[in-house]
Amino acid sequence: MRYPLEIPSPRQLPPPPGGVVPRELLKPQPPGRDDSKSEALAADDTEEKTMRRVLCRECLHPITREEDRTEVHGAHQHTFANPSGMVFTIGCFQAAEGCGAAGSPSDEFTWFRGYAWRVAVCAGCLAHLGWLFTTPSGAAFWGLILDHLIFPENA
Ligand SMILES: [Zn+2]
Repeated sequence: MRYPLEIPSPRQLPPPPGGVVPRELLKPQPPGRDDSKSEALAADDTEEKTMRRVLCRECLHPITREEDRTEVHGAHQHTFANPSGMVFTIGCFQAAEGCGAAGSPSDEFTWFRGYAWRVAVCAGCLAHLGWLFTTPSGAAFWGLILDHLIFPENA
């Protein structure tokens, strides 16, 4: 007989304490200033510190992180005009997991000497977000148009 190994029937479990509904469930929660709210705020703070996500302005897809900001040619932020006269202010990021690069690398009119560029689009909505710059030796960074992104401090 395997009787001792069988799962105990509910009758063998200890009875619920007191056998009554806990008082907290009967009492309506006071609005605001309760413990659960302050806990939620603390959790948000922690998440913001660790994640610091930068989002696509069009679709809110996570594109990169504050921690991935990098400097190229001595600065994070650069302002350039393309051959059509459109002016872009871009920030340099060492990684952009939410971006996809389209086309093949071109060094025509490149803004960073030694780097070829490909168009970078949002993986969520395919909006043009900037460019992926690469060198033949394997160095790479993402130049993302700052106006097309939402940063944590602006959210
Ligand atoms: Zn998007």
